[in-house]
Amino acid sequence: MSTKIPDSELVKRVIYMTLKEHGIVRTQEELAELVEDSLKRLDSKFEITPQRARKLALEIAGLELGVETKKGSGDLPDECPACSGELFATVSNNLRGERVMIGVHCRRCAYEADLKQFAPRRYEFRLLKKSGPTAAPA
Ligand SMILES: [Zn+2]
Repeated sequence: MSTKIPDSELVKRVIYMTLKEHGIVRTQEELAELVEDSLKRLDSKFEITPQRARKLALEIAGLELGVETKKGSGDLPDECPACSGELFATVSNNLRGERVMIGVHCRRCAYEADLKQFAPRRYEFRLLKKSGPTAAPA
């Protein structure tokens, strides 16, 4: 059976409605599953991957992405593994009062990592409480 790729705007609307209904979705796999269920009611050939659902979720105003990290191997990522945004150094003063880099963080989403725990383990999606009907994508 052939599959169909749903339009980005449609997916964003469905993600928004899904989060409105569920409040919080705790993994990108769960998000994709819920969204795909709704999409299949419109067209049974629609399919969406967890990665695409997460990328589109990031474009929704009033949506917050939480990232839980685990121990990573190799070097710190160059860009945010969650949203591909720019990463900034997190600095702190050590015991001798020197400024040292203790990790990296993203200003676009909630990704925050220290020098060991930087691989994304789990993504969490929720709507910000403040977001009213005006934040809904048209
Ligand atoms: Zn990010």
